[in-house]
Amino acid sequence: MNLILLGAPGAGKGTQAEAIAEALTIPQISTGNMLREAVKNGTEYGLKAKAVMEAGGLVSDDIVIGILKDRIAQDDAKNGFILDGFPRTVPQAEALDKMGVQIDKVVEIFVPDETIKTRVSGRRVCEGCGASYHVQYKPSKVEGICDKCGGKTVVRKDDQPETVISRLKTYHEQTEPIKEYYQKQGKLETVIGQEEVEETKKLTLKAVGAEME
Ligand code: ADP
Ligand code: ZN
Repeated sequence: MNLILLGAPGAGKGTQAEAIAEALTIPQISTGNMLREAVKNGTEYGLKAKAVMEAGGLVSDDIVIGILKDRIAQDDAKNGFILDGFPRTVPQAEALDKMGVQIDKVVEIFVPDETIKTRVSGRRVCEGCGASYHVQYKPSKVEGICDKCGGKTVVRKDDQPETVISRLKTYHEQTEPIKEYYQKQGKLETVIGQEEVEETKKLTLKAVGAEME
């Protein structure tokens, strides 16, 4: 199954994508994580992406489409995948169609902007493997340490309040039009993000036809 998870920054997309990936044993493909990795490694892509990301804007379609194309060509994506953070613009959605990638379902996690602004302040990400946590909603077992790899969990630069405001604006202007694109194809399903991660997980898994164990 080829899935897309849509949602504003801080809506909990990454967390839900992890849950779906686990339930359906398909890889979670996060363009945000891949770009942060490129920034960390100082690759050519990374150098171009860094400033844009820190300002809350979008990395150019060319770069992101290139990264995504290479990633879904890998073996582990043959039996399906969940895209987390891609597409983020209508041209990116069109690029998937042009690549001949068949999308089965698009799940939107809806959370109001005001809720997002308060939530993002508690978000932490692992420097080592990119796993995401939240001090209140999804704490790591040991504070500041990643459960998965033992790396340090930190506040992302783009999670500063002013940057969050520009990221929300970017989302509404550039990403939301994608909803209509997929709605017309009858593929869009909206899940209302709940306060409890587990509750949202139940709704999200149901939307993709997977059961919680
Ligand atoms: P969030 O969903 O919380 O905004 P992500 O980790 O998905 O965070 O993305 C972080 C940043 O990486 C974005 O703000 C953007 O600058 C860049 N980015 C990620 N995916 C894309 C994409 N598909 N197109 C353009 N930029 C992207
Ligand atoms: Zn980690």
